[in-house]
Amino acid sequence: VRDVDALTADLHARGLRVTPQRHLIYSLLAEKPNHPTIEAVHEAVVAVLPTVSLRTVYQALHDLEAMGEVRLVQVGNGPRRVDTRPDRHAHLCCAKCGRLHDVDIDVSGLVPPVEQRRGFAIDGAEVVFSGCCPMCHGDKSEHPSDDESARQERVRRV
Ligand SMILES: [Zn+2]
Ligand SMILES: [Zn+2]
Repeated sequence: VRDVDALTADLHARGLRVTPQRHLIYSLLAEKPNHPTIEAVHEAVVAVLPTVSLRTVYQALHDLEAMGEVRLVQVGNGPRRVDTRPDRHAHLCCAKCGRLHDVDIDVSGLVPPVEQRRGFAIDGAEVVFSGCCPMCHGDKSEHPSDDESARQERVRRV
C-alpha cells in the first residue's frame, strides 16, 4: 500500500470511485503495516464507521490484491492476513501467538528439482520460519517453575 492520497488519485485516474469506507481501509493499512487479519482490519474500520460490513472489507481487500497493492497471505492453517508489501519476501512466524514479521531474503531461486515437479507450473514459494517470538519467550522464562512443575505433575500421573 502506497501513500493513501497517491493511491486514491491513481484510482480516480482509472475512473474508479473511492468510497469513504475504502479510503478508511487504505489509511488503516498504510498506518499499520503489521500483517493484520481481515477481522482485525474490520474491527478497526467499525471503530470509525460502525456500519461497514465484513463483506465490504473483504471486497476492498480483494480489489487491493487484484491491483497488486497488498497480498492476502495465509500461514499454516491460521487466519488470512493482509500483507501490505506486495513484493515477494519471507516471514518469521511465532508458533505461539501467530505474530508475523517480514524477512528480506531472496527466495526467487528456490525451486523444486525438475523430476519432482509432477507437471506443476511453479509460480512461487512461501517461506515461513517458525519459532517463538521474544514476547512469548519472555512469558516462558518468567515462569520456568510452572512449566517444570506441570511437567513433573504429568510425569507423576503416568
Ligand atoms: Zn509470540
Ligand atoms: Zn510480509
